[in-house]
Amino acid sequence: MDTEYQDFRDSVRKLAADRIAPHAADVDDKERFPEEAWQALREADLPGLPYGEKLGGSGGDLLSQVIAVEEVAAVCGSSALVLLVNWAGTSTVVSHGSDELLEEVVPGVASGEAGAAWCMTEPTVGSDLSGIKTAAKQDGGDWILNGQKRFISNAPWADWYAVLARSGERDFGVFMVHRDDPGVSFGPHEKKMGMRGSPTADVILEDARIPARRVVNDPKRGYSYINGELNVSRALIAAQALGIAQGAFDQAVSYTAEREQFGQSLSRFQMLRGMVADMAVKIESARALLYDAVALISAGDPRARSRVSMAKLLCSDNAMSVATDALQLHGGYGFTREYPVERMMRDVKITQIYEGTNQIQRLVIAKDVYAKQVRS
Ligand SMILES: Cc1cc2nc3c(=O)[nH]c(=O)nc-3n(C[C@H](O)[C@H](O)[C@H](O)COP(=O)(O)OP(=O)(O)OC[C@H]3O[C@@H](n4cnc5c(N)ncnc54)[C@H](O)[C@@H]3O)c2cc1C
Repeated sequence: MDTEYQDFRDSVRKLAADRIAPHAADVDDKERFPEEAWQALREADLPGLPYGEKLGGSGGDLLSQVIAVEEVAAVCGSSALVLLVNWAGTSTVVSHGSDELLEEVVPGVASGEAGAAWCMTEPTVGSDLSGIKTAAKQDGGDWILNGQKRFISNAPWADWYAVLARSGERDFGVFMVHRDDPGVSFGPHEKKMGMRGSPTADVILEDARIPARRVVNDPKRGYSYINGELNVSRALIAAQALGIAQGAFDQAVSYTAEREQFGQSLSRFQMLRGMVADMAVKIESARALLYDAVALISAGDPRARSRVSMAKLLCSDNAMSVATDALQLHGGYGFTREYPVERMMRDVKITQIYEGTNQIQRLVIAKDVYAKQVRS
């Protein structure tokens, strides 16, 4: 890896160790927003990483975003989720929004003063977004939205919500809803197994009136806009899974180096050395596939679509396995909240589910395999 990226990784790793890790257990325990982490990320200008300088960002490429997410997730999965969901929530505006909408939404999010979220899922709609019921109807110059979005990360903390809503029988639009818009309210905080510091709630839209300038470009093309952002958002979720795996692995390596049984360090038992080696292979092979997918996405290569699905699948499945083994290597202590591996194992589970479950990633991969009938 280039020195530039390595230096960046080192700086985020130090920030994460000094300012985020010390609060991760408390954030999880109290199910509270990771304020300290958010403050630290803001001071390091990380919320602005993906945006151009004109919009108040630092113009970092996808690889730097992936590295930042990995390093934050290695100490606190929830803090990494807050950060990357802000980027996802603004992504359609960045790619397709008018200058006016960009100016209204992005600078606040880039500085970290405002938060963003994106809202696809509904109570009866998860993997199959074609069933979306949230309706958008034009009323004079405005749009009126009615519906309910479920499991929305960063809600109700965020200021901006990119809502995918049905604008016609077969058409969908992306509408930038502000938390203070009339008719917008939120459900209770979702009590979760992991990522407990990341706020999750329903977004409820009851005759919510949205000015026309806040529709992202063509109100009939929202589905394709959201689809177009999935390569990047899936790469970021893969990075989050990988980061958690790396964090759990590092914990297991130090623990097994320090703890003794039968008169010697755990790290000398061959059976455990084999486990550690397998964990290292799972992490490095997942990282290699993710960085390969990132290179294809950045080059605009059409193979990126299935490669990033492979990376999301491999990173999250391997991360679940690594976190489970990391806990096993801690013995009974791993099962207590005294050690972070217990939190990491709970946190990592969701990476196999959101941003397209791993079953859905397999469908994407298989479709591509059969469509091409050739090897890359
Ligand atoms: C903590 C958390 C945060 C989230 N954040 C957001 C967010 O910010 N924004 C947002 O819009 N959503 C968010 N989600 C929702 C998440 O993306 C969905 O839960 C996910 O897409 C799966 O949808 P579902 O839960 O309705 O499951 P379902 O779609 O009902 O799936 C249930 C099971 O069936 C399987 N399945 C479904 N279809 C098929 C098929 N065709 N073939 C084989 N298997 C299939 C699935 O893999 C799964 O195992 C979040 C969820 C959680 C828990």
